[in-house]
Amino acid sequence: MLPYFPPAYSDELLYSLLARFHRHVGETSPKRTLDALFGNRSVRAGVLLQGHLQALSERLPPHRELTPERLLADSTLTPYLTAFQPADVRLAVRNALFLGHAEWITVRLGLAASRVQRATALRYCPACRSEMLVRYGELYWRRDHQLPGVTVCPEHGVRLQDSTVCPGAIGQHSFIAADEDNCPKVSSDAQDDASIPWMVAKRCARLLRSPPPPMSLREWGERYHHELRQRGFGKGDDRIDQRRLSRDFASWSGEPEMSGTETWLAAMARKHRKAFHPLQHVLLGLFLDAHAPVVEDAPFGRGPWPCRNPLAEHYGQPVVQLAGTHHEGGKLIGQFSCSCGYVFSLAAVPGSKPRILDLGPLFRQRLRQLVGEGAGLRTTARALDVEPGTVRRHAERLGLDAPWTPLKPRPHVPRSPRGCLPPAAPARPGVQEGFAGA
Ligand SMILES: [Zn+2]
Ligand SMILES: [Zn+2]
Repeated sequence: MLPYFPPAYSDELLYSLLARFHRHVGETSPKRTLDALFGNRSVRAGVLLQGHLQALSERLPPHRELTPERLLADSTLTPYLTAFQPADVRLAVRNALFLGHAEWITVRLGLAASRVQRATALRYCPACRSEMLVRYGELYWRRDHQLPGVTVCPEHGVRLQDSTVCPGAIGQHSFIAADEDNCPKVSSDAQDDASIPWMVAKRCARLLRSPPPPMSLREWGERYHHELRQRGFGKGDDRIDQRRLSRDFASWSGEPEMSGTETWLAAMARKHRKAFHPLQHVLLGLFLDAHAPVVEDAPFGRGPWPCRNPLAEHYGQPVVQLAGTHHEGGKLIGQFSCSCGYVFSLAAVPGSKPRILDLGPLFRQRLRQLVGEGAGLRTTARALDVEPGTVRRHAERLGLDAPWTPLKPRPHVPRSPRGCLPPAAPARPGVQEGFAGA
């Protein structure tokens, strides 16, 4: 039993925690550290996944309650890597990581064969680096900076940097902690909030914390096929207009159009029965979200619809109901409301963007709390997943004593009984801009 084990920092990778243990106890031999942690000198140090979690868990101080399940879910990349895998594969991965080696898993999950580039170095975010030094006095490797396919920090939107630590090159039996030398200070600019790399990073990071319930590969295939047809990508009775899909996907993503019928996108649209990289699921999911479903007899598709409230536990789960419809400017508008209090409207036309009508009590509660804690405007906006302007307006409306400068007064615009504003109203306080990243 280990008398000491460092406390885990926010979203810290297990590899990082073990590396900090090695450093804090002043051990010089990586083999002795493996012995202390696992009781086995031949265990391999894993960055994305770590094996032998059972043996590790048994040696950790019991009051920390770091069970193999918790280690797996909270500090490895497993929830992301298996997010779109069926229950039996998830179970096999879990068993393998509890008792044995992790190396075969990326091959089994189809990640090794995928074209998605794998980082060779451990990565860090320059903005997180500064915050870590202020808050903890040391650096650590964050899980959501190591996600294959993610290129920016989900929190700051800043491009991730390669550290000088390349686990493949330093041997498989040592854990290297992040420090100010291997993560040199660099300046970096934030992305624009709605940029695709940032949306991808946020959604991938969310998969770490709340992966979807397991579904079979056939169920995923049928779901995508159905959702694409709902969005007007159908052809004939049961097929997909692959050419249109590929063209629209390219214009949405800003990437060159993929050619041929054997692209991952074409394969995913074809009721696929093979595994795809989580990044590809995330990209297709974002693409589908950017296109409103249109079906003749069900103009908004079939409900219930996924919750779009990033603060709700059931985010992404199909729990939202259609509360009513009306016409506005010749378009059919549906108003959707969720049990968490989040309300949005959507026009029944392809590509319609949701308008948020009410961010709900969770938002107000969290806003009150953050302002009470003295959080800054940008930090608050990040924590709530909205634009700073939305935070300002809501803080003002709630009469909160916020530390930032107040807005100039603006005329009061009354709400209509439906909760929607009349179509002529230009600005909808805290509405359109509140949707970034959701
Ligand atoms: Zn960051
Ligand atoms: Zn909800």
